[in-house]
Amino acid sequence: VGQSLVVVGSIAFDTIRTPHGEVPEVLGGSATYFSLAAAFFVPVRLVGVVGEDFPSEYRRVLESRCIDTAGLQIVPGGRTFRWSGSYHGAMNEAKTEDVQLNVFGDFRPVIPEAWRDTHLVFLANGSPVTQAAVLDQVRKPHLVVADTMNLWIDTQREALLDLLKRVDGLVLNDGEARMLSGEHNLVAAAHKIVGLGPTFVVIKKGEHGALLVSRGGPRVGSLTSELVCPLPGYPSLKVFDPTGAGDSFAGGMMGYLASAGNYDFRSLVRAMAYGTVTASFTIEDFSVRRLERLCLDEIDERLRLYRGMLEF
Ligand code: AMP
Repeated sequence: VGQSLVVVGSIAFDTIRTPHGEVPEVLGGSATYFSLAAAFFVPVRLVGVVGEDFPSEYRRVLESRCIDTAGLQIVPGGRTFRWSGSYHGAMNEAKTEDVQLNVFGDFRPVIPEAWRDTHLVFLANGSPVTQAAVLDQVRKPHLVVADTMNLWIDTQREALLDLLKRVDGLVLNDGEARMLSGEHNLVAAAHKIVGLGPTFVVIKKGEHGALLVSRGGPRVGSLTSELVCPLPGYPSLKVFDPTGAGDSFAGGMMGYLASAGNYDFRSLVRAMAYGTVTASFTIEDFSVRRLERLCLDEIDERLRLYRGMLEF
């Protein structure tokens, strides 16, 4: 018996260029990748906004996967959010070429009444003010996890610090963790972030995996193996398009947690492993194409391989 899961975030037309090719205006967005990844584990409730230009074919991609789009706002005459990015060399970081916020710029998320008791809430990348507005609309969720990015750390630090007091977990990149904490050492950065409010933090390090640090004992900042777990990335030979890796990681992680209904430290580690493996599929093709043809058996099979690699 899985728990219910809601995600609020961007739904986008992405234009992506990597050394393997270029695709114009394909389906993307943080909430899109998150939902498609999480839906392997539990049904997902999606809250987002698109313009009238959002094709029914993209909506069908979501709906064919147990993603409830009752929280999708369609702005009459509006244009969907657009993001263009490129990747070079080792493709560790996206270079943003262009952003057109369009309807996402005035996004006021509305959680449908029937969803206000949702157990797990994921606040995908967005302004911390918007993320807080979501928390004002839900009643006592069991687990709230947020994502953030350098833009908000830079421009809305105070609002972000307020938000951190209201979430259980924070997921962010290594560069963002350094920026938020002022620490170069990622373990120190994670400990500092946990001191800002969340019970746990997951720092994503791209191909190098992820680091989990959780508060657990009375002495925050004490380094015990129970409270810290690094996981490597899945060693992928085939990286076509890294877009959405972070959001698929979070989706796999939250989807697994919702299906397990348990949020203790070992469950968080297992959830991170599912997130790692789910993301490793996302990057094998452009946009959401690999997720569209993925099935849970493949995820489980790769998880077995991954677990085997970590045995020593
Ligand atoms: P990631 O998982 O970090 O690769 O996230 C990629 C997705 O983030 C893309 O599909 C973009 O559409 C989306 N995105 C890019 N910039 C923003 C932004 N400022 N706010 C929300 N979503 C964004």
